[in-house]
Amino acid sequence: MSSFNPQTVAVPAGHFIGGRLVAGPPALQVRRPSDGQVHADLPLADATLVDEAVQNAWQAWRNTDWARRAPRERARVLRRWADLIEQSVATLAPLESVCSTRPWRDATAWDVPFTAEGLRFFAEYADKLGGEVAATQHDHLGMVVAEPYGVVGAITPWNFPLVMMSWKVGAALAAGNAVVLKPSELTPYSAVRLAELAVQAGVPPGLFNVVQGDGRTTGEALTRHPRIAKMTFTGSTRTGAAIMASCALNGPKPVTLELGGKSPQLVFDDAPGIDRLAGVIAGAITGNAGQVCVAGSRLIVQRRLAEPLVERIAQRFAALRPGATWDPEATLPPIISAPQAARIVDIIERARAAGAQLRCGGGLFDGGPGGAYCQPTLLEGVDDSNPAVQEEIFGPVLTVQTFDDEEEGLALAAHPHYGLAAGVHTADIGRALRAMRALSAGTVWINRYGRSSDFVIPTGGYHQSGIGKDLGRQAVEANLRFKSVLIDLAATH
Ligand code: ADP
Repeated sequence: MSSFNPQTVAVPAGHFIGGRLVAGPPALQVRRPSDGQVHADLPLADATLVDEAVQNAWQAWRNTDWARRAPRERARVLRRWADLIEQSVATLAPLESVCSTRPWRDATAWDVPFTAEGLRFFAEYADKLGGEVAATQHDHLGMVVAEPYGVVGAITPWNFPLVMMSWKVGAALAAGNAVVLKPSELTPYSAVRLAELAVQAGVPPGLFNVVQGDGRTTGEALTRHPRIAKMTFTGSTRTGAAIMASCALNGPKPVTLELGGKSPQLVFDDAPGIDRLAGVIAGAITGNAGQVCVAGSRLIVQRRLAEPLVERIAQRFAALRPGATWDPEATLPPIISAPQAARIVDIIERARAAGAQLRCGGGLFDGGPGGAYCQPTLLEGVDDSNPAVQEEIFGPVLTVQTFDDEEEGLALAAHPHYGLAAGVHTADIGRALRAMRALSAGTVWINRYGRSSDFVIPTGGYHQSGIGKDLGRQAVEANLRFKSVLIDLAATH
């Protein structure tokens, strides 16, 4: 299978404002995580340029008919955009892969088509959420009228750049808003291509602007801007809290936050199909090298099944082959950056110092083409206070805890701070549903792990894992505000 040559991937290294690429002096270096090399420079939008991008979006929102046109017209444009994205897969996939951890093979088969289909999903909601008629006294008519906010600010992470952007931008545009997006400074390029294709599809220039830069300068300027009426963010809990604080002080304005997790995989000893199960559990922590907010990072397994299951998971870990995102034979992508790899190693070391036993893995792979590749790691003998059980690692590191009865298993599955997702594996439907009720998490997967293509199921966390939802009807609703109208019918004659 052919892939791409990283040396020859040309990147649109600029901002995208008012329908055109805006260059700027190089300020940040963007590296390829696969080989650690600098690929290109990135300009950095300061507060003045962020202001320009937001004002431009505001003017576009006011002066074009995007928010006022028939919603089905908006939907048609979004569907055309989705078609263009799919037709551009040959250029989008390398652009997505070259500086991220997304393998070219997966970007081609999944990220790009999933991005397009997500936009089609949001398009379907364009004319479905107009508001409601309220139950009022007979001589009055009450209405709750849904309206877009105006300009929505979006800040996205580096782990699934295209997909994360489509969730934020698709929902906001479908609801009739304009968007100013700041992609992660580690994976900035596909955003610009996405915005170019939006204009090509008929989204009025300025409705979707992209500013490049880091969190401290560009991201903060966006959250502070008075014309940003709502913020949506995916990333770490710490950054989410900083964004919420800024939105509180500079608004207040509402936030949608999809944050960190430490999601359990709770396995009872009647769980069907041990080989399939081992594949599901291994995949849930090694996909994208564990750099997934919903990664199933804590295996909690009933004692009788523990040894045979862990043995099979270790075999699956051993079969993974690290390699560059452009290597079609590789099955384990790199860690996004050297500091992030060092952080993973540090947590593993602290976990061992606190009593964890290493079943396999434990550090970075030696040699290779540069870049940092983390060995899939199994840590046994951990208690609840172990750092590897407590902290989000964002790497291919799975802790193993065992239990004897349902109550004990559910107690172990609870996390003191996070509540993003959970997996439950059992053949007993009653037990599965009891666990579903007991688990304090925004998503519970039963006898599977991970999202499907059912965009209608929202995603988002409880507790420190977030506020609000991406996907589903709820994501579009979060991009609408509601105006109450009350009419005195008696006064009209
Ligand atoms: P990670 O720690 O996983 O690298 P973060 O959650 O810090 O990720 O970053 C996710 C996104 O948030 C990136 O686009 C980043 O630039 C942005 N960001 C980081 N800090 C801030 C901040 N203080 N205000 C706004 N955006 C920020």
